[in-house]
Amino acid sequence: MSELNLILLGPPGAGKGTQAARLIDDFGLAYIATGDMLRENVKQGTPLGVEAKRFMDAGDLVPDDVIISMIEAELQGEESKDGFILDGFPRTTAQADALAAELQRLGRALSAVLLIEASDDEVVRRISGRRVSLSSGRVYHVDFDPPEVEGVCDVDGSDLIQRDDDKPETVRRRLEVYHAQTAPLIDYYERQGLLRRFDGAGSPTEVHDHIRAALATLRLEETL
Ligand code: AMP
Repeated sequence: MSELNLILLGPPGAGKGTQAARLIDDFGLAYIATGDMLRENVKQGTPLGVEAKRFMDAGDLVPDDVIISMIEAELQGEESKDGFILDGFPRTTAQADALAAELQRLGRALSAVLLIEASDDEVVRRISGRRVSLSSGRVYHVDFDPPEVEGVCDVDGSDLIQRDDDKPETVRRRLEVYHAQTAPLIDYYERQGLLRRFDGAGSPTEVHDHIRAALATLRLEETL
């Protein structure tokens, strides 16, 4: 059976990271999340991190050339050779074109683009309650998925914080950016017959079940 190469598309806060974690467990795919990679660079204080931070804090996109070279390096690595999930990339048509060119060069292809849909109101509600541990990477929600002890990570006891770009005014900006620059990718991938839509309003388990069913159908079609 051929490798599974997936893109997770959808607004911030739709549950892409949650679904990615489950799909990695299911299929053992490499997880490539540009947001996580950028945050790691910011944390380490690399030149890339210093450049990216001002865009991220403002809720704007980091320039395409920076992101594209980061992804190219990742796709050439050993880890992703049996399949991958891209989370938070591509976010612009230029990034999608660059991805297509790189995959073609590597003789690989996308299996599907999973769109997780969520309304703006739902996004704001979810993101404003989001808290993360910088050391363990575990993400919580103050109402829907609280830690055992308020403000403390269950995994490693570290303090939980709100990401700078999860503050309400930045979330509104991120949504504007999503609608203007990323949403056109819905049509882009629909035209290629790759798009599968999922209602992100369901519980994580419901959304996961729907995605698994869609992927099972996809793999079945592949063998016909
Ligand atoms: P995320 O964790 O995916 O929501 O990403 C956090 C922030 O990192 C975004 O608001 C952008 O500033 C930046 N970022 C992540 N991925 C990309 C991308 N593919 N293109 C441009 N900027 C990105």
